[in-house]
Amino acid sequence: MDPAARRVLQSLLDAGVRHVPIGVAAPCPDVAAAGDPPPDPAAPRTPPDPGREQSSPSRGSTTPADRGAVLAEVARQAADCTACKLCERRTQAVPGEGAPDASIVFVGEGPGADEDRSGRPFVGPAGQLLDDIITKGMGLRREDVFICNIVKCRPPGNRDPQPDEVAACSDFLERQLLAIGPRVICALGANAARLLLQTDAPLGRLRGRAADWRGIPVIPTYHPAYLLRSPEAKRPTWEDIQKVMHIARTP
Ligand code: SF4
Repeated sequence: MDPAARRVLQSLLDAGVRHVPIGVAAPCPDVAAAGDPPPDPAAPRTPPDPGREQSSPSRGSTTPADRGAVLAEVARQAADCTACKLCERRTQAVPGEGAPDASIVFVGEGPGADEDRSGRPFVGPAGQLLDDIITKGMGLRREDVFICNIVKCRPPGNRDPQPDEVAACSDFLERQLLAIGPRVICALGANAARLLLQTDAPLGRLRGRAADWRGIPVIPTYHPAYLLRSPEAKRPTWEDIQKVMHIARTP
């Protein structure tokens, strides 16, 4: 057993957990609220994702510096972009943030008010929940993954991005994903899942099942904003996240 897995297992044992299903690294804090043992707040974090430094088939020979340069260029272009009407009311574009060599990329829908103000993805209440999933649930740090949205500017009133807006912005997302070449993409919500998988199927049919974007596995799951309104969806979401972790850690 590798040292990281041993530490996670020890933290579970310290917390009184005696049965660990295959593939479970740590109990999700939100699932714990539904009746499972609580996570040990003193549990050591799993070190940065072991897949970070490993190459992905889609990465080719690019280095983290190369990937970072592409991400910086996307961010610069998004900041000045006027390709769709979402530019008219934005405070600033929110291109995304995280590790250029991330094994896991979370793709959400679009920035909200907090993100529009800060220029950072997932920093509002839904972002706090995503942070909890990443840190307390997955045992990673936010900076170990990459987080972005399918549109980089805030849709007014937090409405769904419209098809023409998604189409206009898709090149930015495509360049980000191809540059990073993650081991797995987690699509947060129906709009992200439908764009990446090119389908109109409902999220209920898509979630939790590994599909494929340009050779990179995609696991769709519920958007954190939906989880805030529908706590009963937290348990299936955690099951999906465990699949994401399993793929990210599979050599
Ligand atoms: S949402 Fe995307 S395409 Fe539209 S203005 Fe913003 S960066 Fe450009």
